Amino acid sequence: GIVVENVSKQFGSFKAVDQVSLEIKTGSLVALLGPSGSGKSTLLRLIAGLEIPDSGKIWITGKDATNQSVQDRNIGFVFQHYALFKHLSVRNNIAFGMEIQKVPKAKIKARVEELLELIQLKGLGDRYPSQLSGGQRQRVALARSLAVQPKVLLLDEPFGALDAKVRKDLRAWLRRLHDEVHVTTVFVTHDQEEAMEVADEIVVTNKGKIEQVGTPAEIYDHPATPFVMSFIGPVN
Ligand code: ATP
Ligand code: MG
Repeated sequence: GIVVENVSKQFGSFKAVDQVSLEIKTGSLVALLGPSGSGKSTLLRLIAGLEIPDSGKIWITGKDATNQSVQDRNIGFVFQHYALFKHLSVRNNIAFGMEIQKVPKAKIKARVEELLELIQLKGLGDRYPSQLSGGQRQRVALARSLAVQPKVLLLDEPFGALDAKVRKDLRAWLRRLHDEVHVTTVFVTHDQEEAMEVADEIVVTNKGKIEQVGTPAEIYDHPATPFVMSFIGPVN
């Protein structure tokens, strides 16, 4: 899993992440939920190694990752506007990371087919990104990050740019995918309904701090602070 131990990150005098401690269990699907500016993306980038903490430590699968490079952390990412390579087919987009890692050709081929099946795009491997819908593209982006078999998958509002109906389909799909693949996943959203529906555990962030960690039911039934109560509120 992931352990974040008393981590802080400041930008100028602004505390984006303020003495945060958090434990994410191996194989779980965890949502970071909070309002805009509450430090969700910064916390995710700290876990990824894209930001270095001012203080504190980060452990990934039992190893101190605090000073590890992004590459050494063996992490997959998907961001909101995750660009696929336009000039590569779906199949070659998925294969890209494995080619860099010099995985044998036959193995790449088999794994790409397996992943196309997993993301339910079996017949579409030869298409180019411009010939896919937004939701299909995000599924290819997920397959591409899973292809290199990361220990941890970090998703920053991966469905944020999509319309409500597609978002709803994709969240159900992400839940099913996770139930098959079981990679430790941290998923950022500011949408409480999305967090409630998808996550095993929700981490509620506010002003660079964690207000509460719990299962969707715990958070909904027993909000720990007035902030959580007002932020979760009745789901409409
Ligand atoms: P959103 O839901 O809008 O994506 P967030 O919860 O992901 O918000 P962060 O992106 O982590 O929030 O930002 C937390 C705070 O830190 C914000 O006030 C932001 O302006 C500030 N911040 C983030 N990155 C930087 C940076 N590189 N330089 C300066 N300030 C930054
Ligand atoms: Mg963000």
